Amino acid sequence: MSSAVATEIKTIDNFIQGQYKAPKKGEYFEDIDPATGKAIAKVANGGAEDIDEAAAAAKLAFEQGPWPRMSMQERCAILRKVGDLILKNLETLAIAETVDTGKPISESREGDIPRSAQNFHFFSDYAQALNDDSYSVNANERHLAIREPLGVAGLITPWNLPLYLATWKIAPCLAMGNSCILKPAEWTPHTANLLGALMQEAGVPEGVFNVVNGFGAKSAGEALTTHPDVRCISFTGETSTGRAIMGAAASTLKKLSFELGGKGANIIFEDADLQEAIPTAIRAAYRNQGEICLAGSRLFVQESIYNKVRDELLERVKQIRVGNPLDEKTQMGAIISKEQLQKVQSYIEIGKNDGKLLFGGERLTTLGEGNYLSPALISEIDNKSRVCQEEIFGPVLPLIPFKAEEELVEMVNSTPYGLSCSVWTNDANRQHRVSRDIKSGIVWINCWFARDLRTPFGGQKSSGVGREGGRWALEFFSEMKTICFRYKSGQ
Ligand code: NAD
Repeated sequence: MSSAVATEIKTIDNFIQGQYKAPKKGEYFEDIDPATGKAIAKVANGGAEDIDEAAAAAKLAFEQGPWPRMSMQERCAILRKVGDLILKNLETLAIAETVDTGKPISESREGDIPRSAQNFHFFSDYAQALNDDSYSVNANERHLAIREPLGVAGLITPWNLPLYLATWKIAPCLAMGNSCILKPAEWTPHTANLLGALMQEAGVPEGVFNVVNGFGAKSAGEALTTHPDVRCISFTGETSTGRAIMGAAASTLKKLSFELGGKGANIIFEDADLQEAIPTAIRAAYRNQGEICLAGSRLFVQESIYNKVRDELLERVKQIRVGNPLDEKTQMGAIISKEQLQKVQSYIEIGKNDGKLLFGGERLTTLGEGNYLSPALISEIDNKSRVCQEEIFGPVLPLIPFKAEEELVEMVNSTPYGLSCSVWTNDANRQHRVSRDIKSGIVWINCWFARDLRTPFGGQKSSGVGREGGRWALEFFSEMKTICFRYKSGQ
């Protein structure tokens, strides 16, 4: 694999039946580097006809190929090798991811890419530990509950953590013996494209892993969600897209798993360890330019320590180094696209009206044509402001004071989202009460972003449907069959 991917304009085709293939209609669109505004690739604009081809390849691989018929051990050995190859090509993949997304190279190198390898390593081990159930009914009758693969799976992913979120679905999906079609986000197709070659090198049979590039509505994404041979859709993206997919998938009754938007609360009580809470609040708000579903994107601070926390945050936000994503010292890179930049800026304008912009929110044109924005910190804002209620998905942190726990819980639960939140307090009873009362898929106590791949991951309310991670992912990508054995007695 050549690291030239980061600097040359290349062609990104679909990957179907073990081959890179031009889209059937021959149409391509440009992939833009967020840090320069320049085109870095022309990308296959796949459509329904490409999804048809990929679905036929995936179906053939499932119905006649070796993949679902291999022993679990053999299949997982191949998937483990995919993880090894990701690590072997870490630098190439990290550069490709950073150039595609605008995220700091340190985050790709130390976070996204190693974690993508870990997805394969983890699920290839974990799937082997899965067992079937046996029920002895009486001396002559036994019922087995066994898990079978679904067939062809559709995987649809967003642009913020491209390889990590794709592999988080691909690894459990393939471990269970399915074949799949991945539709990566149109803005970030590079690492999914490189993954095709790595899959082949590892020995994943043709047709088991397919990639169709393109857009969502009325394009490749929608075609995947309506295809009759696709049995399930695992989707990560916006809540509104989840709604559209649920509607589109109804006519073919697909199994669905949705990881959707978030408006994570970070809560600092007056007894918290501020030495830990404040730097973590900065990371939670601005890591990956704030383009993380789990971001702590609104900060609740107890009134008695509000001024102190605000002043310390302000000092730290001013220190965040925004710059070229490929520079190792950069802490915040470029926003993914001009559209997203404008969306973030429009929320900063709302923040200026509804509160006080303490710092940032400025286009940093001195850094060039890229989508650079200084991290924004907003105070004196009411929790009812759209800045505190809606997902911005950018480097904007509103600070909201609260007096007491009861009022706080109500404020935290007031958004339609319920993905994650962090609670900073040393009072064990309060830790219990708040984690019980907040409607959220994940509650972190005195930490943020702590993840163990064995635990369930997903959102409550408008943040998701179902759970991925650990056995929940393996269960999603399979279905149960009950087989009842009755034996003749008396022989
Ligand atoms: P998006 O919903 O716009 O797009 C995600 C994917 O869906 C893309 O591949 C897109 O092409 C496709 N798509 C769009 N419309 C479609 C349709 N009608 N049918 C089928 N496919 C369609 O999301 P995005 O802007 O790429 O990503 C940002 C969003 O993702 C944020 O809301 C963020 O919170 C969410 N996200 C959630 C998690 C999580 O784990 N809960 C993780 C990362 C990102």
